[in-house]
Amino acid sequence: MRPILIAGNWKMHKTQAQAREFLREFGTALQSSSQDSVPLTRTVSERQVILCVPYTDLAVVVEQTQGSGIAVGAQNLHWEDQGAFTGEISGPMLVELGVRYVIVGHSERRQYFGESDETVNQRLAAAQRHGLIPILCVGESKHQRDQGLTESWILEQLDRGLAGIDLEHLVIAYEPIWAIGTGETCAAQEANRVIGLIRQHVGQAHLSILYGGSVKASNIDEIMAQPQIDGVLVGGASLEPKEFARIANYQ
Ligand code: PGA
Repeated sequence: MRPILIAGNWKMHKTQAQAREFLREFGTALQSSSQDSVPLTRTVSERQVILCVPYTDLAVVVEQTQGSGIAVGAQNLHWEDQGAFTGEISGPMLVELGVRYVIVGHSERRQYFGESDETVNQRLAAAQRHGLIPILCVGESKHQRDQGLTESWILEQLDRGLAGIDLEHLVIAYEPIWAIGTGETCAAQEANRVIGLIRQHVGQAHLSILYGGSVKASNIDEIMAQPQIDGVLVGGASLEPKEFARIANYQ
């Protein structure tokens, strides 16, 4: 059985005070939206809930989720352990805070911050070197989909990004760029098909592969009913505690 991961990506949202507020409401919402009202710890131990938060929120979120079963992730890391890289954060810095996961190669980083498959590859290696589990994001643009380039593009992203990477300690998220933050979800069957291709290409039976792109409480059941989809990476809907609790407690 592959683990089910329900990961929130807050992107550049929430101050520490807002993070504390979210966690208070999320804890309550997780219990009340769970059908059999089990305590927080049991609800989340059946599936791994992960909160990928801004660097400035990491310490607070780690502290406030102690013992809850919720894991904490960062949204990026640098490939060097230390050095003259103004504005960057390294693996050892994240590990010391109690961070367990890190998103690597999100399309927003590729689009706005010049992230390439080569730097993605270096960041993946750095995460694994420090025992962090990277969540590698891949996905095609609308233009590439319209041109029939979805499969070749994604396989290329995988080949370049995963060169020399340990496939045992890795999560992949398929996030079609045109479905991110647009409200336009990729049809569940289509996401299932692409994720099946990714799984076949990577050739690693135990790999958890998530879907991301406009996931909400109203479409989580359909998405999670797909056999190839092992979880979700949720942006906008992870900012709202009740909505994200409903997603985490999908049936
Ligand atoms: P979204 O973002 O859920 O707001 O579409 C997903 C993501 O970027 O990971």
